[in-house]
Amino acid sequence: MHYRSTRGTDNHSALLFSHILLSGLAPDGGLYLPTSWPQISRETFNHWRGLSYPDLVAEILSLFTAGDIELDALKAMSREAYKNFSHAAIVPLNEVETGLFSLELFHGPTLAFKDMAMQMLGQLFEYVLEREDRYVTIVGATSGDTGSAAIEAFKGKKRVNIVILHPLGRTSEVQRRQMTTVLDDNVLNIAIEGDFDNCQDMVKAMFADSNFRQSVSLSAVNSINWARIACQIPYYIRSALTLGAPERAVSFAVPTGNFGNILAAWAAGQMGLPIRKLQVGSNKNDILTRFLLSNDMSVQVVEPSLSPSMDIQVSSNFERLLFEMLEQDPHRCNAIMQEFRQTGRMAVPHDAWEKIRENFNATCLDDEQTIQAMRHFFENSHYIADPHSAIGLEAGRQFKEADIAMIVAATAHPAKFPDAVKKATGQDAALPPHLADLFARQERFITLPNELAAVQNAIKAHVQNQ
Ligand SMILES: *Cc1c(COP(=O)(O)O)cnc(C)c1O
Repeated sequence: MHYRSTRGTDNHSALLFSHILLSGLAPDGGLYLPTSWPQISRETFNHWRGLSYPDLVAEILSLFTAGDIELDALKAMSREAYKNFSHAAIVPLNEVETGLFSLELFHGPTLAFKDMAMQMLGQLFEYVLEREDRYVTIVGATSGDTGSAAIEAFKGKKRVNIVILHPLGRTSEVQRRQMTTVLDDNVLNIAIEGDFDNCQDMVKAMFADSNFRQSVSLSAVNSINWARIACQIPYYIRSALTLGAPERAVSFAVPTGNFGNILAAWAAGQMGLPIRKLQVGSNKNDILTRFLLSNDMSVQVVEPSLSPSMDIQVSSNFERLLFEMLEQDPHRCNAIMQEFRQTGRMAVPHDAWEKIRENFNATCLDDEQTIQAMRHFFENSHYIADPHSAIGLEAGRQFKEADIAMIVAATAHPAKFPDAVKKATGQDAALPPHLADLFARQERFITLPNELAAVQNAIKAHVQNQ
């Protein structure tokens, strides 16, 4: 299996999975995609129904790592990756209303769906770095869930240093503590005196500084890393097989930010899973809903909401779908993305937009509607959903068709958002046992001004101490 960039201007050929795993973004600024989609036969789907979840992950990933990483190695990795999940089914499916299913992706160590991919990435990095005798420093910026999932996945890994920047005082206390109470030597948390955009700009500047990049072997695990998308395909396939696929089609609804999770569902469809519709749920930061309903992809100011992991205006992974809809033409894709960067408005050709509309639909909920949705599912079904999952459930409920199962990605544990849960349902959402003493644990982080040199020096010192 080979990979290419959506902007395709560099003429590397025959890139393998491990290369794109470690590099993340393509040097031309594009995103990596496989050159073709593996096609799954009916017999294979039916065989997969009987596998354990980790073995299914290994089977599916092996199609994307062909010629690079063997199935047996992947099996060992995925068994390791999913052993710390607190639910025996790993990705349990709950029927919330008739035909409306909550696919719970939040039973991993940090209680958000980011663990599904990140835990496996930790294993994949370790395997490839060992094989190639290399070391890397992963640097990332977070406003919440990504940082803790990455730290949890890479803590204690011998060949990796992990540095996460968060905006001082601007993450929730649960989210901050999930990062700063991990005390392994290879973890460095930096609180930046600034906002999330400052943190993200700082990470971009570090990647653009080639001396620095080489001196610490910089790497990234942000949501544009193809390996993360690949690790999110299996739970869509698993849940659909449980509900009658490949003989019967299903629909999916996904609370969407960077478009990574729902893109994985679309990829499952490219591989042959029968999918009727993909429903995007967004909050008041509704760029995707505006795009899907009226081909208006224009950037507005990000507003804080009850579902902070979806407070996004530019959904980076959308570029992958765009590239596919442009008949995989990297030059057209590049031109559209350049113009988008300059003008803040993406001119998606009408025929490409229509093709996208054949598969995708969307709805957005403001904070009040989110609370109402949480209340609705609690009062009608005794189901407590966090604000993100509630947006997905409500999107799924609105678009549910008779006789077609609607599977909703439930992306965060309610205990991550206790205030919203209390307001909507009157219930206290307790942290699960492994995190019950989170507020009593020792924290460790350093605070730095929003200055590139200061942060680079701190990272270099951290790496040298290892
Ligand atoms: C990251 C995240 C999302 C959005 O997922 P994307 O892949 O960025 O669309 C939704 N809900 C939660 C809880 C998340 O952490």
